Amino acid sequence: MIDARDRPDRPRLALHVCCGPCASAVIERLVEDYEVITVWYNPNIDPVEEHDLRLAGMQRVAGLSGVPLVELEHDPEAWAQACAGLMDEPEGGARCSVCFRMRLARVARWAEESGIGVLTTTLTVSPHKSAERINAIGQEVCRDHRIAFMAENFKRRDGFRRSVELSRAWGIYRQTWCGCAPAREGVGRRRG
Ligand code: SF4
Repeated sequence: MIDARDRPDRPRLALHVCCGPCASAVIERLVEDYEVITVWYNPNIDPVEEHDLRLAGMQRVAGLSGVPLVELEHDPEAWAQACAGLMDEPEGGARCSVCFRMRLARVARWAEESGIGVLTTTLTVSPHKSAERINAIGQEVCRDHRIAFMAENFKRRDGFRRSVELSRAWGIYRQTWCGCAPAREGVGRRRG
């Protein structure tokens, strides 16, 4: 595995990270070509103890990978407000589009303010998430912030398998549900 500290001459890239396990494999792939700055903004995760547990896993992954981690505010009230009226949606339904947009828009704003011209996200590692939908939303929000979005599908080329492998090797907590309370409670059926 390449240690990010060994390659100081690459363009900067903001990587929205959804959790440590997904981030582990994506960082490993990206540090060959980019100076990766990981950014945490996941107000969807409920309850706060779960949020903090996942954040602690991400902090460990960032340390082991030799990349910085920027922690933006935890704002579950704003997430609940954005998703109001969508709590009965199944995982993969309309609430997820709002959730993806909110998280990526916040990180895109941070990247623009920080002078970083490229953004991507670890969200596409999940076999349960549509890379096409995430990439379309990422491109829209980045256009609004005048930065580029790297459309990727990180589950390809064994990305998900590698995330499981690395998180096991490093002892990183792996959650069993996406993040929000309706997903935890199994509201509706997963649509992907
Ligand atoms: S299921 Fe996941 S992506 Fe969908 S709204 Fe909940 S936390 Fe967000």
